[in-house]
Formats: sequence, structure tokens, C-alpha cells
Amino acid sequence: MDFVSSSFNSTLGALTNPATAQLATDLYKGTDFNSLNVLEKAWANWYLYWGNPVLATGIMSFVLHEIVYFGRAIPWIIIDQMPSMRKYKLQDEKIPTAKQQWDCTKSVLLSHFTVELPQIWSFHPICEYFGMATHEVPFPSLSTMAWQIALFFVFEDAFHYWAHRALHWGPLYKHIHKKHHEFSAPFGLAAEYAHPLEVLILGTGTIGGPFLLCAFTKNLHILTVYVWIVLRLFQAIDAHSGYDLPISMHNWIPFWAGADHHDHHHAAFVGCYATSFRWWDHFMGTDASYKRTRARQAEKKRQAALAAKAAEVKSS
Ligand SMILES: [Zn+2]
Ligand SMILES: [Zn+2]
Repeated sequence: MDFVSSSFNSTLGALTNPATAQLATDLYKGTDFNSLNVLEKAWANWYLYWGNPVLATGIMSFVLHEIVYFGRAIPWIIIDQMPSMRKYKLQDEKIPTAKQQWDCTKSVLLSHFTVELPQIWSFHPICEYFGMATHEVPFPSLSTMAWQIALFFVFEDAFHYWAHRALHWGPLYKHIHKKHHEFSAPFGLAAEYAHPLEVLILGTGTIGGPFLLCAFTKNLHILTVYVWIVLRLFQAIDAHSGYDLPISMHNWIPFWAGADHHDHHHAAFVGCYATSFRWWDHFMGTDASYKRTRARQAEKKRQAALAAKAAEVKSS
């Protein structure tokens, strides 16, 4: 106890409260605080500040989700207001109105506060049940985090492909998935615009990978899960952005799905069911309509360029 308290007193300037000092002993017995980096110390301090790991994990999870979700959507809202960016819009005639964006925001917020918030309190106990490290420091190495996150991407993409395809089956579509398809030309904020059951079903793909890995290896830190969720949020919001920019990932990673892929799903209501990668739709043939549409658009663009060139030659 002395070691933990004195380390915290010296490094964090906290722990004057005996209850907090006791918590430090309970949570961080045997941890060498002098060897921790700034982030790891801040992490431990966060858990000690709240004095209750369930609360500390719950608040961090919820706040992180809100900041990343709405923070990542803001650039797309701004881009929608820039006529110079229209040339990158996948369905350029369909710019979301302010009312659509506001209605969508209200619906997503309502879902976050009524459906997600209560569930988030069970997150820490479930993590502990599977043996996930939560308050523990130090953090895992970057290489460990990288291979684990790569696995989560592959698992989620496969899960999402089949679950999303199932949600397009008549009764499930009508009662659950239809809400997500209200916007045939999606925008960033619409990524989580969905029926609560859909959030639950498809969310299983996001969080199921970490729990499975943890159940088998007992080697996973919640920080890795947070980084994964942040990347997954970026993927989902960007896929709904409605823009295919020259810097968009699928332009330099050919198997990355991106907005180019998912925007077609919303425009056509079928095909392109996966989230991050193109391989499931490619091998299952569910991207045939996407490929036809893009080939048609490319041909139209080629013809227009030829016609423009011919007109230029004629006038000169
Ligand atoms: Zn769908
Ligand atoms: Zn969508």
C-alpha cells in the first residue's frame, strides 16, 4: 500500500483520501508506477478518480462513442455545404437537407441515451467475465494491438456480411432494417440511424470478436477494444458519407469497401452487404449490380469526355 500510495502521490499528486489509497492497493497491487508512461498513468488515475471500475469504464465508453461519432460526422456535414466537393459526391443530386440531418441526429441521440447507455453499465462486468484487462496498466504492445485489431476487422466484416444479408430477408427487413434504409443517399450521421434491434444484432459483430478472442486467449486489454471501436466508427461513418474522395481508402487499398461500396447498397437496396472489405460480396456474387452500375457510370464519363474533346477539336 505504501508503495502504491507514495508512487501516486509523487507521480499524480492524488490519493490523499484513504478510500482512494485503498482502491489503489486493490486495483494496482504489484504495479510498478515508476515504469509507466504518461498515458498509462492517466489511465490508472481515471480509474482511481471514479473509485468504481464499472462507472469508470461505462463513462469512458459512452463519452468516447459520442465524441468520436459526432466528431467524425462534422467534417462530412461541412463538406455537404461545399459546392466544390460535389464532384466527389456519389449521388450528386442528393444532398442531405438540414432537417434530415437534424432529425437523424435526434434519433441517433435518443437511441444512444435510451438503448446504449443502460447497456454500457454491463460492459465492464462482461469484460471482466471474459478475463479482459480493464483498469490494468501497462498497456499491451503496439504489435499485439495491431494483430488483434486486424482480426476484429476480419471477424466483424464476415459477421456483418451474413447478418446484414439476413436483415434483407422480407420480414426482418420490414420490421427491423427498413429504418436504416430510409436514406437512399446516406450521410455520415446516418451510420447508426437504425432500429435498436439492428444496433444490437450488428453490434454483436463489433464486440463479439474481442469477447471471443478474450475467451480463448485471456490476452486482451480494453484499450485495444477502444482503438478498434474508434476505427470501426470511422469506417462506418465514412462508408455512409456519400463521398468518394481521391484520398478515400479504397483508392489506395483496393479491397477496402468504403463509401463507394456502401453508398451503392443504399442506392440500390441490395448487394454490397459487407462493411470493411470487398471480398465477401465479390466471392458470393452480391456485388454484381454494383459492378454493373460503376461500369455504366465509367462508360458514360468516358463518352462525355470524348464528346467534349470532339467539340473542342471542331471549334478550334
Ligand atoms: Zn441494408
Ligand atoms: Zn448503411
